[in-house]
Amino acid sequence: MKVLVTGGTGYIGSHTCVELIEAGHTPIVLDNLYNSSAEALHRVAQITGQEVPFYEGDVRDEALLRQIFDAHRDIGCVIHFAGLKAVGESVQKPLDYYENNLSSTMALCRVMGQYGVKKIIFSSSATVYSADNEIPYREDSRIGGCTSPYGWSKFMCEQILRDIANADPQWSVVLLRYFNPVGAHPSGLIGEDPRGIPNNLMPFISQTAIGKREVLSIFGNDYPTPDGTGVRDYIHVVDLARGHVAAVDYLTAHTGEAVFNLGTGTPCSVLEMVHAFEKANGVTVPYIFAPRRSGDLPAYYADPAKSCETLGWKAELNVIDMCRDTWHWQSKNPNGYDA
Ligand code: NAD
Ligand code: UDP
Repeated sequence: MKVLVTGGTGYIGSHTCVELIEAGHTPIVLDNLYNSSAEALHRVAQITGQEVPFYEGDVRDEALLRQIFDAHRDIGCVIHFAGLKAVGESVQKPLDYYENNLSSTMALCRVMGQYGVKKIIFSSSATVYSADNEIPYREDSRIGGCTSPYGWSKFMCEQILRDIANADPQWSVVLLRYFNPVGAHPSGLIGEDPRGIPNNLMPFISQTAIGKREVLSIFGNDYPTPDGTGVRDYIHVVDLARGHVAAVDYLTAHTGEAVFNLGTGTPCSVLEMVHAFEKANGVTVPYIFAPRRSGDLPAYYADPAKSCETLGWKAELNVIDMCRDTWHWQSKNPNGYDA
C-alpha cells in the first residue's frame, strides 16, 4: 500500500519508513525539516535499496497536501508523525505547540476527507494517561490531567480524530500511545539526532559515554521504586516502527476508532538503563544524583496485551538491544546526520 508518512524524516518516522518498505509498502514523506534532516531518507534508501519520494513542506499547507494527493491518487492511508515534541519547550511556548500539533492534524484530515483517504494512524503518547491511574496503563485507563501543553495537544488531537471517526463511519482511526522510544536501526545508519543538549535519558547517556557530555544527572534517587530512580517502559524504535506496520494491516480491515499501547510492559529504572548501557557496550557512563525533575512521575509502564491480541504485535527487542543499537548509531555518527 502507498502510505503518506508525515514527519517521516524524523526519528520514529524514518525507522517506520524502513519497516514499511520491508513489509512491501511504499512510503511517501512530507516533512518541513524543522527537527530533522533529509539525510535520514538517503540512509533509508541505503538500508532498503528503495528511494522514498520526499516533499519538503508543512502539513498545515493544504495546497501542498492537495498537490501530494493529486500526484499519488493511490495513497491508501496516512501515518501522522509530524509535530513538535519537546515537553519542556511546550510549557514555554504553548501556542506554538497547540498551533502546530492541532492545525496540522486538522488540515491533514480535511484534505484526506476531500480525497476519500479516510485511514489514519496517529502518534500519541503515554503522556495522555492521568497520573492517578494504577500501573501498568491499559488503553481504558483514565486520560487527561496532562502536565504539559505537549501532552494536552496529544489529548486534543486524539479527541479530534475520535470525533471524525464518530461523524463518518467510513473513517478508520488508530491512536498509538508510545511509551519511551529509544535505540536505533541495527545498521547504525539511522537513529535519534537531537538538537542541542538532549532532554531524554538515552541520548544523554550515549552522549556522556562518547564524551560530549561530562556527566549524566539522574533526576531523583528517592522515588518509591526498587532502586529509588524513575521507572519507565523503554521500547526499541524498530519494534515501535513494526507496530505501525501492524496498525496499517489493522486499518485496512477495520473502520471506527481504536487505541493501542506500544510498549514492552517491562519496567526499567534509570540506574538499570545506565548499567545495561555500560554492560552492553563496555563503556563507562559517569553519573551523579540530582534533584527530581519537575513534572516527572515516579513510575509507569504499559500493559501491551491489547496490541498483542488485536494487532498481533509485540515488542521483541530488549534493553541490551536498545543500548547496543544506540551506541552503534552514536559511535558511527558522533555528530548525528551533520557529520
Ligand atoms: P521528530 O521530531 O524526530 O519527528 C517529527 C518530525 O515532524 C520532524 O522531522 C519535524 O521536522 C516534523 N514536523 C514537525 N512539525 C511539522 C509540520 N507542521 N509539518 C511538517 N513536518 C513537521 O520526533 P519523533 O520522536 O520521531 O516523534 C514522532 C511523533 O511521535 C511526534 O508526533 C511525537 O510527538 C510522537 N511521540 C514521540 C515520542 C518520543 O519519545 N520520541 C513519544 C511519544 C510520542
Ligand atoms: N532522566 C534522568 N536524567 C536525564 C534525563 C532523564 O534521570 O538527563 C530520567 C527522567 O527523570 C525519567 C527517565 O529518565 O525518570 C526518562 O526520562 P525521559 O526524559 O527520557 O522520558 P519521559 O519519561 O520523561 O518522557
